[in-house]
Amino acid sequence: MAKRTLTGTTLDTIVSLAKRRGFVFQSSEIYGGLSSVWDYGPVGVELKRNVKDAWWKSMVRDRDDVVGIDASILMHPDVWVASGHLDSFTDPLVECQDCNKRYRQDQLEGEACPNCGGAFGEPRQFNLMFKTFMGPVEDDAATVYMRPETAQAMFVNFENVQTTSRKKIPFGIAQIGKSFRNEITPGNFTFRTREFEQMEMEFFCEPGTDDEWHEYWKDFSMEWFKKFGIRGEKLIMRVHEADELPHYSKASADVEYEFPWGWGELETISNRTDFDLKAHTEKSGKDLSYFDDQKKERYVPFVVEPAMGADRSALAFLLDAYDEEGEGKEMRVVLRFHPDIAPYQVAVLPLSRNEKLTPTARRVYDVVRAQFNTQYDDSQSIGRRYRRQDEIGTPLCVTVDFDTIDDEAVTIRNRDTMEQIRVSIDKLEGAIRDQLNQMRVDSHG
Ligand SMILES: [Zn+2]
Repeated sequence: MAKRTLTGTTLDTIVSLAKRRGFVFQSSEIYGGLSSVWDYGPVGVELKRNVKDAWWKSMVRDRDDVVGIDASILMHPDVWVASGHLDSFTDPLVECQDCNKRYRQDQLEGEACPNCGGAFGEPRQFNLMFKTFMGPVEDDAATVYMRPETAQAMFVNFENVQTTSRKKIPFGIAQIGKSFRNEITPGNFTFRTREFEQMEMEFFCEPGTDDEWHEYWKDFSMEWFKKFGIRGEKLIMRVHEADELPHYSKASADVEYEFPWGWGELETISNRTDFDLKAHTEKSGKDLSYFDDQKKERYVPFVVEPAMGADRSALAFLLDAYDEEGEGKEMRVVLRFHPDIAPYQVAVLPLSRNEKLTPTARRVYDVVRAQFNTQYDDSQSIGRRYRRQDEIGTPLCVTVDFDTIDDEAVTIRNRDTMEQIRVSIDKLEGAIRDQLNQMRVDSHG
């Protein structure tokens, strides 16, 4: 039932809806904005939090072979020497000699500047890490970097986590957190930004089992997006060619989504081999090998990494949920989110602001919000409020009317079917739960 009638939508439509309904605002807008930097508003923060919570639950809480950490953004500068980021985390940069605009050389077609037709100077390698200084002295000795990926914290904490959690290989370490890449050409709304949030998991396994685990995590990742409502026909698994593999990877594949501008990566599942643990062992002098007490042998584990972008995933959920129904004045915009991704699961709407109704409506709100993420909305006409809830993708609206005062019953309206049923307040929680469960099943992509 939740299947979208629209096959596609434009990015402009989504950017404008995102602003109008409080999903995403431009950063520092009153100062003219900061280019390619975005802020999540009251509705958007709930959406993104739900995406992260859904991932954390699937990846950590529902499994006994993955544990979490929350590491600092700033790390010892030697981490980036060992990982190879200081030397090779670069993009080829060219600058126009006439207008001084800068481009990524590998993204250019032709020899001339797309802006003015001028000629380019010599290309140079541009490191994507943000630099800053720790403490009051701004010199090389005080230089630290904003992490360009969360993964390195899982490698440098491998032994701490393994010994304190008493996990045996195979097991994984997961983290959600901000990363920073000084992209030469960010763009496409929240898809490519210089500050972004990652959801990464490093899965440590015995050498020789890594190919199998790579396949396992590829399947897991694809299924995760479908489970939470992204349509299967909008997703592909793209295997990387040998020449696009980063320095640490033996094999990589992307889950890509069909964005309005074309296919774009949501998640990369990489076989990082024993590259990182070995590099940190060598640089730090601390042995990061593992003793398998069943096989009585010591080895450096291989690592398979599913690495997902939280912001671009939230954008894909937003785009994929977008639908329009009917025409002209009757047209309604509806976001058909999976109930666990929707910013709010329920809205409680008193028919009017009449003071006779308010105590009952607030009582219903208290009952509902104890169990579900709920918005209370009593402004404007009931029809407009239904439309507003449709536009932010709230699965169920509970309406409190004057009959409620006498019969202790309310109306539940379903976002997708627009069907309304009357239930008594003491059966409301169960009725909401049943409808949400049905919508979870229906929204599987
Ligand atoms: Zn130019």
